[in-house]
Amino acid sequence: MKNIHVDFWGVRGSVPSPGPATTRYGGNTSCISITINNKILILDAGTGIRNLGSAIIGQPELEIFVVVTHSHWDHIQGFPFFTPIYQPDRPVHMFPTLHKKNVVLSSLIDQMDGAHFPITPDQVPSNFNFVTENPLEFLESNGFHMELVPMNHPGKAFGYKIKIDDKIICYFTDNEIDPPYEKSIELDVLTEKCRNADILIHDAQYIEADMPLKHGWGHSLISQVTKLGESAEVKNLVYYHHDPERSDDDIDAELEAASKTLKENGSSVRPYFAYEGLKLSI
Ligand SMILES: [Zn+2]
Ligand SMILES: [Zn+2]
Repeated sequence: MKNIHVDFWGVRGSVPSPGPATTRYGGNTSCISITINNKILILDAGTGIRNLGSAIIGQPELEIFVVVTHSHWDHIQGFPFFTPIYQPDRPVHMFPTLHKKNVVLSSLIDQMDGAHFPITPDQVPSNFNFVTENPLEFLESNGFHMELVPMNHPGKAFGYKIKIDDKIICYFTDNEIDPPYEKSIELDVLTEKCRNADILIHDAQYIEADMPLKHGWGHSLISQVTKLGESAEVKNLVYYHHDPERSDDDIDAELEAASKTLKENGSSVRPYFAYEGLKLSI
């Protein structure tokens, strides 16, 4: 049985939000990592990936796999600042097009075009390995069994259900549980995907006061995520992809309210509101 470590490097949605109101939860955009033995799976490359790069630059034995859920800015923008890619010959496995069969597209490196970033991919000394054929099999052979799950999100996005040994981690960010547009996934299907997960990480960007303006923008209400975690009976529920306007104090209040609701309902779900530096080991 492997030790599985899940680390949170960027927990914010939409745009980085540094400043005195966000110091405790952090202002960097989406990035988490899952480490087993000497392999690190990086999910999304928002600005949080910069600190991750600094943390692992001195660990050349760690094999790197980078997977993105979709190509919105907050999921790709940190990649050019991920310092391991500037280490000569360091292997970096990338799966930029898991959900676009037969099309080689990489929003991670396409942004390094000279116009948006000064260094171009041919100047990068690491060894990019683009896995375009059977990427899921490749990941599985490295210990990460991953299932793509379609999310409800404008422009399309995918979540990942990851199985490692008998543990289940669902990384479902940028998902609108009840959108006004045609759904890619119904709530009952989503609930079954999450059923008994050891860790469910889910988009929880909005609160009721954000509605109706932001209905259809591709994100879920915190209250909907609480209900999802409860009905799917997950063990650890991580509210993720916080709104850039949500202050530390706002998030504290949401955590308190969610904890109270779960307790009152007799639920055994353990709630966390993701913050930079959160580590969960299972
Ligand atoms: Zn996002
Ligand atoms: Zn998005």
